[in-house]
Amino acid sequence: MVKSLFGRQHKEIPLLKVNDELIDDREKMADIFNVYFSDQSNIDDSNVQLPNLEKFTSELTTIEITEKDVEDILLNLDTSKAIGPDCVSPRLLKEAIKSWNSQTNELQNSPSLLAFKNNFRSNREIKPVFYYCGSRSGQIYHARIRMNCSGLNKHLYDRNLIQSPKCVCGDPETTDHYLLKCKIFNVPRQRHIHNLQIPIKISTNVLLFGSDRLTVEQNILIFKAVQNFIISSNRFTSTIK
Ligand SMILES: [Zn+2]
Repeated sequence: MVKSLFGRQHKEIPLLKVNDELIDDREKMADIFNVYFSDQSNIDDSNVQLPNLEKFTSELTTIEITEKDVEDILLNLDTSKAIGPDCVSPRLLKEAIKSWNSQTNELQNSPSLLAFKNNFRSNREIKPVFYYCGSRSGQIYHARIRMNCSGLNKHLYDRNLIQSPKCVCGDPETTDHYLLKCKIFNVPRQRHIHNLQIPIKISTNVLLFGSDRLTVEQNILIFKAVQNFIISSNRFTSTIK
């Protein structure tokens, strides 16, 4: 009933009664509250003598903090606590400290975030150059097979995307089956893979990763041959341009 009397405008905020006066201006109400609450915590100290505290005489001349000390403190952080004024989550600090301490001094002291990212990338294990040979689509198909996430039925089956891992020929369509065994792809295999002139036995592993017993040029031959085999087998729908 009161709400209906005062209308819709201030139905959420009740009026304030001060000295028999009803206040409905929100700013005035806020000021009144401000004055009231700050009055509660103001202490009149105009006639109070400040205590005479003794000057401290001892001081810390040096302090030694090791990486291990910092690591120990961070590893004991309570991750259920809220983030501090630095806006870094205690969980991140706790989980990242070991990884951070394992980086080189140069990387840790990178002058900027961009420099840090670039240094970090160049510190990571570098892929052999022959991973970058051939065509873009060939590289992508090859890499997908290498990472077991290609369109081969065994790879799709392992990710619960299809009901059966079998090839059209009836055998499970594994990487080994596709690259080296399936009769359906005998012609492109003969042309591209069996014709390879390399001094070691051809295996699935060599076809996917190359070999450190071979020269870069020989590994490039292998990678290009496998990519050509994949593309000319037409096994995968060409969606890569
Ligand atoms: Zn087959």
